[in-house]
Amino acid sequence: MASNIDRETLGRVIAFHGHLCPGVTMGVRAAEIALREIGPHAADEEVVAVVETDNCAVDAIQYLTGCTMGKGNLIHLDHGKNAFTFARRSDGKAIRIVAVPRDRSMSPEQEALVQRVRGGEATAEEREAYNTLWHERAMEVMDADEEDLYEVQRLEGYRLPDKARIYPSLRCDGCGEMTMSARITPVGGRNLCPACLQESGETTVTMRPIGVVENELEPGVTPSRAKSPRSVIRVREEYADALHGMAADDRIDILFAFDRAPRAGVPLRQHPRGEKDRPPRGVFTIRSPHRPNPIGVTAVRVLEVRGNEVIVEGLDAWNGTPVLDIKPHLA
Ligand SMILES: [Zn+2]
Ligand SMILES: [Zn+2]
Repeated sequence: MASNIDRETLGRVIAFHGHLCPGVTMGVRAAEIALREIGPHAADEEVVAVVETDNCAVDAIQYLTGCTMGKGNLIHLDHGKNAFTFARRSDGKAIRIVAVPRDRSMSPEQEALVQRVRGGEATAEEREAYNTLWHERAMEVMDADEEDLYEVQRLEGYRLPDKARIYPSLRCDGCGEMTMSARITPVGGRNLCPACLQESGETTVTMRPIGVVENELEPGVTPSRAKSPRSVIRVREEYADALHGMAADDRIDILFAFDRAPRAGVPLRQHPRGEKDRPPRGVFTIRSPHRPNPIGVTAVRVLEVRGNEVIVEGLDAWNGTPVLDIKPHLA
């Protein structure tokens, strides 16, 4: 079945995007599926969109679904795919809409025309021909059967990304510009924004988490090793084989990032566990999450290993915490 979007709405999408193109109509068709299956974002129904491209399609998705970059409920993954995941918080329903492979190739003449227009060498006539071609290809998308454009996958147990976090801003000591505190790195007593940090030539280490913690501990509670519930460490599928040999009752160390801890203004002496009646100690002698490199390590007991999931007991990390590494615990 062709698109149900009326011409007036399509006109408003085109006005928002700036032109009519096959990319924006692909976005319209994806948004239509999302609106039907998940519904629009609203004050009382949060919908989160994860888009795996930054092409024209995303403008139609923002305009029609209400998921936008500025509200933090549009998340961009730089995967270069026409794939869009939508999830709503009320019942966790989530779908991924992914473009089906299809032949969209152009004739050699059309290819040459597109090249000339993009290279800025086209005549007025050629530009006219290009506009007609692009318009046709855009409208073909509007008239196509949904199944010929997209496959819709139902995602069971999809983990919604955390709500947009708002951090206070700090002044960068390099450029003087106000910068979200979570993006500030303290270097030799100076707070630097990412651009100034790069310019400073300081050595930094970037790590990609190998997995994520899933449990009932939400920010606001102080995680305790004694009282922590079972946690699932969901290891990325690509690293599942690295769990080979791990079994119930193993003692392992979990290294994780204190990703909610402020980076700047870390006191080098702190009260242990934040208890004001205990004298302050050097931060390298306590387990505080507020440290120059916010890394945590906790020894836990394995309860079960299930595919790429490690179920453990005794982990004092919040739900959603990025896991950096897992090692056998040495007594
Ligand atoms: Zn476009
Ligand atoms: Zn700066």
